Amino acid sequence: GPQVVKFVYDFTEGNKDLKDLLGGKGANLAEMTNLGLPVPPGFTITTDACKVYLDSGEEPAALRDEVSAHLETLEQRMGKRLGQHDDPLLVSVRSGAKFSMPGMMDTVLNIGLSDASVEGLARQAGDERFAWDSYRRLIQMFGKTVLGVDGELFEDALEEAKAAKGVTVDTDLDAADLKKLVKGFKKTVRTEAGRDFPQDPREQMDLAVKAVFESWNGDRAKLYRRQERIPHDLGTAVNICSMVFGNLGPDSGTGVAFTRDPASGQQGVYGDYLSNAQGEDVVAGIRNTVALADLEQLDKVSYDQLMQIMETLENHYKDLCDIEFTIERGQLWMLQTRVGKRTAGAAFRIATQLVDQGLIDEAEALQRVTGAQLAQLMFPKFDEDAKVDKIGRGIAASPGAAVGKAVFDSYTAIKWSRSGEKVILIRRETNPDDLDGMIAAEGILTSRGGKTSHAAVVARGMGKTCVCGAEELEVDTKRRRMTAPGGIVIEEGDVVSIDGSTGKVYLGEVPVVPSPVVEYFEGRMHAGADDADELVAAVHRVMAYADRVRRLRVRANADNAEDALRARRFGAQGIGLCRTEHMFLGERREYVERLILADTDEEREQALDRLLPLQKRDFVELFEAMDGLPVTVRLLDPPLHEFLPDITELSVRVALAESRKDANENDLRLLQAVHRLHEQNPMLGLRGVRLGLVIPGLFAMQVRAIAEAAAERRDAKGDPRAEIMIPLVGTVQELEIVRDEAEQVIDEVQRAAGLDLKLSLGTMIELPRAALTAGQIAEAAEFFSFGTNDLTQTVWGFSRDDVEASFFTAYLEKGIFGVSPFETIDKDGVGALVRAAAEAGRATRPDLKLGVCGEHGGDPESVHFFHEVGLDYVSCSPFRIPVARLEAGRAAS
Ligand code: PEP
Ligand code: MG
Repeated sequence: GPQVVKFVYDFTEGNKDLKDLLGGKGANLAEMTNLGLPVPPGFTITTDACKVYLDSGEEPAALRDEVSAHLETLEQRMGKRLGQHDDPLLVSVRSGAKFSMPGMMDTVLNIGLSDASVEGLARQAGDERFAWDSYRRLIQMFGKTVLGVDGELFEDALEEAKAAKGVTVDTDLDAADLKKLVKGFKKTVRTEAGRDFPQDPREQMDLAVKAVFESWNGDRAKLYRRQERIPHDLGTAVNICSMVFGNLGPDSGTGVAFTRDPASGQQGVYGDYLSNAQGEDVVAGIRNTVALADLEQLDKVSYDQLMQIMETLENHYKDLCDIEFTIERGQLWMLQTRVGKRTAGAAFRIATQLVDQGLIDEAEALQRVTGAQLAQLMFPKFDEDAKVDKIGRGIAASPGAAVGKAVFDSYTAIKWSRSGEKVILIRRETNPDDLDGMIAAEGILTSRGGKTSHAAVVARGMGKTCVCGAEELEVDTKRRRMTAPGGIVIEEGDVVSIDGSTGKVYLGEVPVVPSPVVEYFEGRMHAGADDADELVAAVHRVMAYADRVRRLRVRANADNAEDALRARRFGAQGIGLCRTEHMFLGERREYVERLILADTDEEREQALDRLLPLQKRDFVELFEAMDGLPVTVRLLDPPLHEFLPDITELSVRVALAESRKDANENDLRLLQAVHRLHEQNPMLGLRGVRLGLVIPGLFAMQVRAIAEAAAERRDAKGDPRAEIMIPLVGTVQELEIVRDEAEQVIDEVQRAAGLDLKLSLGTMIELPRAALTAGQIAEAAEFFSFGTNDLTQTVWGFSRDDVEASFFTAYLEKGIFGVSPFETIDKDGVGALVRAAAEAGRATRPDLKLGVCGEHGGDPESVHFFHEVGLDYVSCSPFRIPVARLEAGRAAS
């Protein structure tokens, strides 16, 4: 027969795997119900119903009857009807999507109370105050979240009532006071919402359900989804649950619990309890909670039962669970559970503890941690035992611990940092003009803006510590000072410390301790007994799981022996990108300048002869550091202007000299050349292979240096494995010309040395045309390395040097990106080209080696993508290698 869509599930009908349909909350309530745990009976309206409502503006036709049927079952079980005057069944209506989502309607409690049933509740509970307080809360929550009345109006009225009576806490208001408040609240609803507070309990329920549906499309919810890349079409479920009360006297209460310590992973009794209270009181911090362990004294029976339930939940979910519970007159009720959030360190510990307990296997353990958590553990932290002077707190925008002298403008930041000072750049908010100052600073502190503010986005991109939106700090950039609460004034030059992992801001220097995890990767620390060692032991084990299963190899982007050695300690299996332009800076720049300006072959050859031994020495060191592992050396790829004097400075110098009539010949020649070579768009200009093709001998010199260095290492009984890589290739013809020239040089060196150096030659794929003609290019290349930095730049038409500081903030705020495409690979665009080029390349040359060496090689989400498209390796900066190893393992398990 026709498939009947079911829109309502009783808690007894669902299970934890139905999160798409029942939302996280509903699925877990069902799961607990089926485990036989004491969950107040109820039912869940599915996300499907929500989707119909959002699409058509009307609830599905069948919904009303289905809800009626489930409500009736509920009423029968509870032995009373919703809102029944003499003994009302009350319910809560709570939203619950697949992912928990701020910005959606949360909860309306006490649905079913009315002018009539409040009296019944008072009699049944034997507590008039309780009943009127419950009614007061209903009108307040309902008025605000369902009818859209400004919540402050209720808050203000409550404050006034307390003030009039001369008391400070809600609990000092008696039944008569609350009755009066209810009257006022109802009047507020009438004037603000243009309708009376509904007395019909079913109408209350139906309106609340609709409000939950509609909250899916609230502005904040939509923005959150765009930023978190949660699809907009999931919809939310609605949970309708019979009420239990934690505020019925001293033998009632409410609390939260964790099956293990979410900070350390240790098993034990963790949580808070508040007697004679409802959940919202805990959140509002009205009274102080007690430790969960104290519940044993207050109510041993409930406590023992709770401990039993926690064990059941852990064994069932095989993970840390967090729990909300209520005790109503000695009866324990479970209101919610979910796999709980935890700190990065706890994630690693819990994963290995659960393996030891036999609850999960190694593959599952890998799914319980993330590369982002590992990265977090690799930042230095402030010494926890240090005495600190906290002056404020903002948003933890980019992790790390930074200490420096306060400066209030970028110019000073640059000036001071050039003279060796460490500075913290403090601004109200940053803008693109602050970029150089941000680079110069140890950390950035702003008093305005959130996680997607300019400061936050740019700092994260640079891996720089940042605290933003520290609103209690008053920044006065004109007077170069900041005022903290209590009138503490921080002048320019005063030392401050900022913690980008907690958002805390301190006056003075807080000592920084290195990350034990980094110490471990560096080989300076081994698993032992104390706390840090336990963490290290857990990381060590999880990394071993990852290394065992991963298919992707992990290489480093490194261009000197020191970085290469560190990368090796961190587990690099080779170098995927040695940027040789980094070897031409400093004093060697002069030779490059001469090379570029040479008028005669002789001049050019002289310059090349100077560079050859220097380059060769670089490579010998690098091959030695990476002995036995592949080293991909990329031939020169900078925009030319980076090697020439600044056009403005030089023009001024020449003009001044000319006015003094002592302009020298060399400067004039230089200026002419600089003019000739000046480019409007250097990134799209004479770079990479283009440079190699127009400056005769340049690439040949580099190839010779590589080959001779390899020969020297072989003579020294080493095992050099060099791969030569050509940058910015757009067509196979470019590659063929360079290839012919390189092969000639290699032949010469090999013949002279009497060795087969086994050098391979490949190309970067970093232009759309290269990706689109990858099948042809593979004829001339033994390997491809995707340069996803340039590929992102050219596919989107974004200048990689400019846009992150200019309009990306706006794009992130509007939710056009969840994250910069320079950080995480744009799968649909850039990624599609990578996939197609990999396939086309392999079709031409089945043993074509494929890697990636753009920044994305160390980004967790991107690593999964590269695994999926079948690359052989990713290459990233040395510090990110452990993250890439872990994510490659997670992708494969
Ligand atoms: C790239 O473009 O992705 C790349 C690795 O090269 P570079 O960043 O040096 O341009
Ligand atoms: Mg590039």
